[in-house]
Amino acid sequence: MKYSFFIFLFFISSILIAQTTIDSTRLLQNLEELASDKYAGRATQSKGNELAQAYLIQQLKAMEVTPIDSVYQVPFTFWNWMKKEKTEGENIVAIAKGTQFPNQYIVLSAHYDHVGTKNNAIYNGADDNASGTCTLLELAAYFTKHPPKHSIIFAFFDAEELGLQGAKCFVDEPPISKDSIILNLNMDMISRHKKSELNICGTYHYPFLKSACDSLIATTPITITFGHDGPNTGQIWTNSSDHGAFHAEKIPFLYFGVEDHKDYHKPSDDFENIHPSFYYHASRYVLAVSKYLDEHWEALEK
Ligand SMILES: [Zn+2]
Repeated sequence: MKYSFFIFLFFISSILIAQTTIDSTRLLQNLEELASDKYAGRATQSKGNELAQAYLIQQLKAMEVTPIDSVYQVPFTFWNWMKKEKTEGENIVAIAKGTQFPNQYIVLSAHYDHVGTKNNAIYNGADDNASGTCTLLELAAYFTKHPPKHSIIFAFFDAEELGLQGAKCFVDEPPISKDSIILNLNMDMISRHKKSELNICGTYHYPFLKSACDSLIATTPITITFGHDGPNTGQIWTNSSDHGAFHAEKIPFLYFGVEDHKDYHKPSDDFENIHPSFYYHASRYVLAVSKYLDEHWEALEK
């Protein structure tokens, strides 16, 4: 009798622990906020982009996530080929120090910029990429509360829409030694799919990462697909988002994202059009893969 009671307690506590990995209410509230008209499409070097930075920093502080240096903002300059001028961007960078391998770094990333406002239409970019951004906030909260084995950097990149500029500047001048970056997990558009499919790109280039993803498929109700990275796997996405900057330096990556949809890069990429349940489960899956790779990195045959 006593024994079964303990088993019962174990199940209840497991369910509670599982539920606390991602705060679904906060996840959706943050997405609704960042994809609202107030941020005017978050174009790099705009008022809306600055407001987004302030919002992200406010959230990170509230969740007691520490900046990598004394401040979260890391400014950079790049050549803006759209405007034909030098432009300033701001990456937001935070860290959870590793307990066993503090000098080896996993970079979890998502770009928070989008394309702004054109012809008086605001491109809110709810899926692209307020979705990855808000999941990254949850991952930062999780790993701050549950310190990882390796150090994990949370990189909210700017100017992705202008050619992965924030990621390129980060990789060119990382806050830590480039050789110590062991992995990049990048999220860009993870909140909707009509058949509930989340794609992982990167295992063609780095096959040793696939078993980790496979081993967690049974834990999620959404469908995980692999592709967009090698022969006969559809349009190639190897350089289509910030992970491309890491791949250029031969740093292994996985990119989580959905197929382009009817609202892709349209003013209708709004909060109302995301799929909350799919988004929540996609977020949980990315967290599970992140945890698995952090915990099992040394045992993987590379
Ligand atoms: Zn994007």
